[in-house]
Amino acid sequence: MANKILRGDTVLVMRGKEKGKTATVLRVLRKENKVLLKDVNLVKKHLKAIPNVREGGVYEIEAPIDISNVMLVCPSCKKPTRVGFKIIEEGQEKVKVRFCKKCNEVIDKVKRLR
Ligand SMILES: [Zn+2]
Repeated sequence: MANKILRGDTVLVMRGKEKGKTATVLRVLRKENKVLLKDVNLVKKHLKAIPNVREGGVYEIEAPIDISNVMLVCPSCKKPTRVGFKIIEEGQEKVKVRFCKKCNEVIDKVKRLR
């Protein structure tokens, strides 16, 4: 299946204890179907010291949440939306893009096709 949510996207949490929060996607864990969101689903974790990087101790870090629990916030209409894919022509090239199913605006280019 195509990847509807990508790193750097802004998403809205639809379910769970963080419901209603808007956050940036830090990482997509494709195999587990999870995403890591900035400052969402924080858990306390003991981390070892890394010289010149951090001291050891208890840190709050983000834990992944299910990708099905988030929706992309469309950069155009600013609404949580489902994402579609389509092929558009750009000069001589065909480009696969993600688009918003609410306002139909192109979100970004995914890849170029021959
Ligand atoms: Zn939209």
